[in-house]
Amino acid sequence: MIAGASTGLPDSYDSQSLAAWRLRMQELRERLPFDQALDEIRVEHGDEAYEWVKESYDIAREMLNAWGFPVGDYDFDLLSEKLHDYQMIQEIKRVTEEQFPLSDWEALTTLEERQIFLQEYMDAILPIMGLENIGLRPISFDPTIGQANWNGFYNHSFNHELGIPARTTWINPTTIDPNNEGWWFWQPSPTDSYKSLQTLVHELRHAYQNVAVDNIRAMENAPNAPVVASVTADAWDHNRINHLDTQTDRTTDESDTERYQEPGQTGNYTYPEYRNQPLEVDANGFAKNEVWNKV
Ligand SMILES: [Zn+2]
Repeated sequence: MIAGASTGLPDSYDSQSLAAWRLRMQELRERLPFDQALDEIRVEHGDEAYEWVKESYDIAREMLNAWGFPVGDYDFDLLSEKLHDYQMIQEIKRVTEEQFPLSDWEALTTLEERQIFLQEYMDAILPIMGLENIGLRPISFDPTIGQANWNGFYNHSFNHELGIPARTTWINPTTIDPNNEGWWFWQPSPTDSYKSLQTLVHELRHAYQNVAVDNIRAMENAPNAPVVASVTADAWDHNRINHLDTQTDRTTDESDTERYQEPGQTGNYTYPEYRNQPLEVDANGFAKNEVWNKV
């Protein structure tokens, strides 16, 4: 990728190459109406990028409207956001396949080796997403209350109550330990546990969302700030305050037998309700390289 020559992903997330990317997008915005800007994306990035960006844009717009964050017909910032997402996803995919393949993961025989592998993977992904100062820690979930197969989470703020540091991704070691004999209901296979790479990207996307919201709230146009439309950040910010998680009651309709409730937890809502929150829709789409969608 040649930095500055096109809307290609910057070679690195240093402020200069990202600034060139932004300038190029700005130039497109000023020069071309929406459809032609999309056509230009097709010319520069090919049919696959064009289809992905166009579909993601339409779906994101529809969902944002449904969530009460109106987007007009032409939101160039949302288009830029989707193009940038696409480029990050492609780069993550390339790095994963070339440097962190399943065969390497399967060859590791101890938990420690796999934790090092994950740390190295994270170190390779962070610059692609323009993130820094994010920690990775193992956390043991409690199998007696059904948490043994929890994969991970991300916390952005220092949690005084739990004594956990800010900006930290947590991966459950029982899900990656090659010597884990599992539980009666579940045992991770190497292929299953390799999905922890995807879990990590999902959690890092939560970090990215938080950084994007922080930047927009602070009105700091930091040169390496995430390329996120303000309407998207508004939806994330709102969801950040009203997030459904497994420790809290958020809905009270108990007539719905499908309500998702972890054993021993007080969460009381359906899995789709959890999954269809703006932050989760976005993190899932990003990590799985699926066009953003509800379940
Ligand atoms: Zn999540």
